[in-house]
This record gives sequence, C-alpha cells and structure tokens, in this order.
Amino acid sequence: MNQSNAQIIWTDPAPVAELLRTPGKRVAVIIHVNPDGDALGSSLALLNIFNKCGHTSSVISPNNYPGFLKWMPGTEQVIIMEESSAEAMDSLLKADIIFAADFNELTRVKKLNEAFCESKAFKVLIDHHPGPNMDVNCMLSDTSASSTAELVYRFIKETGLHSLVDRDIASCLFTGIMTDTGCFSYNSSGRKTWETVAELLDFGIDKDRLYYLTYDNFSEHRMRLLGYGLNERMEVFPEYCTGIIWFARDDLDKYHFEVGDTEGFVNYPLSIKGIRFSALFVEKEDHVRISFRSKGDFAVNKFSRKYFNGGGHANASGGESYLSIADTVRRFKELLPSYKDELSRHED
Ligand code: 5GP
Ligand code: MN
Repeated sequence: MNQSNAQIIWTDPAPVAELLRTPGKRVAVIIHVNPDGDALGSSLALLNIFNKCGHTSSVISPNNYPGFLKWMPGTEQVIIMEESSAEAMDSLLKADIIFAADFNELTRVKKLNEAFCESKAFKVLIDHHPGPNMDVNCMLSDTSASSTAELVYRFIKETGLHSLVDRDIASCLFTGIMTDTGCFSYNSSGRKTWETVAELLDFGIDKDRLYYLTYDNFSEHRMRLLGYGLNERMEVFPEYCTGIIWFARDDLDKYHFEVGDTEGFVNYPLSIKGIRFSALFVEKEDHVRISFRSKGDFAVNKFSRKYFNGGGHANASGGESYLSIADTVRRFKELLPSYKDELSRHED
C-alpha cells in the first residue's frame, strides 16, 4: 500500500482498554472465511493476551483454517462455525466484547453475520482493508499497515497491554506480518512494519523457525498439485500481461486436496516476466473461489467487486462465481480485452 494514499480511521481505543481492565469478561474474536496467516495470527495474539488478562476468550472462524497454521499457539481455542455452530453462536451471543479482525465487511464472515449484528457487545474492528463498512463501537482501520497483525500490535501498545506480550504472542503477530507480506516482498515498504518486527524480535521469537513451520510444512500432495497446476492448468496471455491457474474438482480430488493447499499458488504467474495480473480459480462444491493478484496500479479489488462478488486490497483480492469452472474461466478471458490498455501500460 502506498503510504501517501493511506485511508485511516482510528477511533480512540481508551473505552475498550477500560473494559478490558476488569478481568472476567467474555471476549470473542471473529475472523474471515478461509482464514489466512494474518487472520489467525492477529486473532490468536488477541486471544492469548486476553487470556492473560483473566478474560474468557475464543476465536471464531466461519470455516476451517489451513493445516500449515495448526502449530500456532492457541489454535485449540479456535471454534469453527461450520463444525460447531452451536458453540460458535453461544460464544458470540454471550460475548461482552467482540473483536473483528482482518476483514472490512460482514459478508466475509458468512453465517456469523446475523449474530454479530444481533449482539449488544462492545464491538471493535481491527483491519487494513480499504473501505471498512461495519457498524462498530471502535474502528482501528489503516490501509497503510502491512497486515492486521501490525495493527493489533499497535492496539496492544495503545491500550497498555504491552507488558503482557510474550514470545507466543509475538510469534503470532510476526507470522501475520510475514504471511501478509509474502515474506516481506510486498506491502512492507513502510518503516512502521520493520519497527514492529524489530520490537517483536525483542520478545525472543525464532524467526527462522516461524518461517519453516509456516512454509516448509506442506504435504507431498500439495507440492504435486502445484506441479500439475503449473504444467497443465496454467494459461498465460502475454498480450494482456495476465496469467491464470485453474483447478476443477476432479483435479483436486486426484491430489487429495485439503484446506489451504492452493494458498500462494496465485502468485506463481506473477513471477513470469511481463505478467502483472494473475488469477487462481478453484472449483468448490457449489461455486468457484477466485483469488486475484496484481503488480503495480491495476486494482484487482475493483475488478473483483465489479465482476466476481468480491473485494480486498488493490493488489490482492478474492471473489466467487456461481458459473461452472469452465464458464467462469471463459468469462474471465472474455473480460481481458477491455483491460488491454490498462494492463499493458506499465514500466518494469
Ligand atoms: P485470498 O486470495 O488470499 O483469498 O484473498 C486476498 C485478499 O482479498 C485478502 O485480503 C482477503 O481478505 C480479500 N478477499 C478475498 N476474498 C474476498 C471477498 O470475497 N470479498 C472481499 N471483500 N475481500 C476478499
Ligand atoms: Mn490481512
């Protein structure tokens, strides 16, 4: 994110700090569907710190998270709505305080939406996506941040909870920053990101271990699915500076697909010289899940919002389609010619 275009809404967090000062509160932290390292890192850092404050806390996720993030401290306290809906609803409806982390609109939490709106809890949003659109009591939103984890650290400092940060909490936050910046390759040009990392290192985190726990933790099937995708399912359109990868349900079954296995695949076409727009299409049970990435000023969140019911950041967004996988890919290809000028206008 360009620092000069930052959109910042930063409500004074003193009222929530005051609430958190009395132990015994029930705190629920909700995260977006298909949670990633930032959603999990941010929410688990909050959970661990609230536990240390003497509150009863839980993280509620609409669906399961990738296996390669299971090692993160506190995952045993994550309630998965799809699997334990009564427990998830109970936690949410009984909460005194609800934190929403790493998303900007309630469509991102699927069935948790209604309970969130119904709840009379004090609500806090911590997020770095543009255009937050949620009714909350405290909004901590800053698009110039690398990640929600970076903002959670800022929240912790501003609310006087800093002395409770320990190695586990710092590890969760570091993992959020590391994963949302592609290991510091994008969204990490601001000095605040590096200052945050420097401070997290002071808590004794083992950066190398956190890297290998996250990135050297895949199944053999996932690696072979990647190989298959690059060989058989990648299409490159040099005239539009675009590359895509797509998977039909049969492809996924053949490679024993598990949640999170295609995480990161969308970045591969971007590493081809001249490619600045990439998309990954994955066929799910009743829809096609899409990830978009771009380099430079082609705003994939606008593209996704316009054609694929989605949104996100300017260079990283997601969406979905209710056409078949073949028709979805066809529709995407049909859209490219109208973006030819925009996509090919760039300095490399
Ligand atoms: P991913 O491709 O990794 O699933 O998502 C990339 C980014 O776009 C993430 O920041 C994610 O939160 C956001 N995003 C993904 N899907 C959607 C969507 O359907 N709606 C919105 N508003 N944001 C999305
Ligand atoms: Mn994020």
